[in-house]
Amino acid sequence: MRVLVLEQRPYAGGRTRSFVDPTTGDTIDNGQHLLMGCYAATRRYLSLIGSEHLTFLQPSLRIDFIHAGGRTASLACPSLPAPLHVGLGMLDLSSLSFTDRLKLLTVGAAIVGTSPRKEQWLDTITVDAWLRQLGQSEAARRHLWDIIAIGALNERPEHVSALLFFRVLRAAFLGNAQNASMLIPRAGLSEVLVDPAVRFIEQHGGAVRTGEDISAVDILGDTIRAVKTERGAVYSASACISTLPFFAFERVFPSLVLKARKPVPPGAMSQHYRPSTILGINLWFDRDVMTQEFAALLGSRIHWVFNRTRMTGAGAPGMQLSLTVSGADEYDNWEKDAVVRMGVEELQRYLPRVKEATLRHAIVIREKRATFVPEPGLEAFRPRTDTALANLFLAGDWTDTGYPATIEGAVLSGRRAAERMGG
Ligand SMILES: Cc1cc2nc3c(=O)[nH]c(=O)nc-3n(C[C@H](O)[C@H](O)[C@H](O)COP(=O)(O)OP(=O)(O)OC[C@H]3O[C@@H](n4cnc5c(N)ncnc54)[C@H](O)[C@@H]3O)c2cc1C
Repeated sequence: MRVLVLEQRPYAGGRTRSFVDPTTGDTIDNGQHLLMGCYAATRRYLSLIGSEHLTFLQPSLRIDFIHAGGRTASLACPSLPAPLHVGLGMLDLSSLSFTDRLKLLTVGAAIVGTSPRKEQWLDTITVDAWLRQLGQSEAARRHLWDIIAIGALNERPEHVSALLFFRVLRAAFLGNAQNASMLIPRAGLSEVLVDPAVRFIEQHGGAVRTGEDISAVDILGDTIRAVKTERGAVYSASACISTLPFFAFERVFPSLVLKARKPVPPGAMSQHYRPSTILGINLWFDRDVMTQEFAALLGSRIHWVFNRTRMTGAGAPGMQLSLTVSGADEYDNWEKDAVVRMGVEELQRYLPRVKEATLRHAIVIREKRATFVPEPGLEAFRPRTDTALANLFLAGDWTDTGYPATIEGAVLSGRRAAERMGG
């Protein structure tokens, strides 16, 4: 099939894109992304568009944690089959007492032993409630599980469904040992995920048109006949895949009934979704301040610190760090200077070398609709690929992918939609 992509913004990529910072010449992402070895659809996509070589898959899972004051601990898994490698890695996690480490294995047992019926029940409780039921101590939650949950689901564990957390852990910890490894982009997101895809489409006779804001569709019976854009263009095609985000969908399809496990009246689907902010603070220092490639800060307002200098070679001759705060709606109205000050002060508590360093430059990026909050009960309302229209298929991270708002969910849904379209 020949593909035409219509994109509202002046560039392709949506929530995964990068740009060159004019001050430093470094490439900045709209927000640091981490992928995982278990992202099978994404890895297949990277191989198809030819950019797998721009990513690095950890040989075995390693996550560094930094305590206030600079003490470090690591979850480092030995090169053994899954899930033994994660089990042994957890038993070695020095930030927890030995009793707490032993109890981590209860979560492992729950991942292996949960039946499909019990799995659905997990969508009625939060991550926090599930972890408490599994006897996880305050320290285990704060120093391990909460960090993973906030990173994967972009919201506090008290607000998100245990089901999606369970699925992320299952996908990561079972099967191939490298499923749990982090897959790290070694270049800007556009270079890794977007530009090669645009080239791929063009080389196969398709096109990507930016600046095309889809405003309406022309439907006859059960068939979508044409798509109309704000500037008056009309495009027709034999079949369409909508990749509109949840907050844009109902403007274009106000009366379409979506198929989900629980019925959703037309125009009422988006009320089940709540967006969540991710705050990115990019800081350039005049010297090296961190040795790790990336690390979680324990008990900090900053959740993760990414050492862009080590990850992508940015920031020479000093060091560029990218700080991430998930579920960051509280910062939506903060002035840039206050955000930067908060970021630097937090770093000084965790990376002592920051105290001697000079901050040369800072960029703050607020993605206010970075993800949707996977609240308990939402799964039943996430729409399927098929729609009431015979030639319209849905894709996007918010559809019924089985994953939280992730690249993997987005790619998987796109692939499913293309397969359904092909019959
Ligand atoms: C800061 C940040 C950090 C993240 N970190 C991670 C991470 O570490 N790991 C991970 O897996 N995921 C992460 N995510 C989530 C991930 O980026 C998204 O889940 C994924 O990119 C969603 O892809 P999508 O195609 O569903 O939606 P989008 O990328 O939002 O694509 C939808 C597209 O539709 C366009 N559009 C909207 N309305 C119209 C219209 N009317 N006409 C035409 N076009 C329109 C938009 O401009 C957009 O380009 C992060 C997201 C952000 C923002």
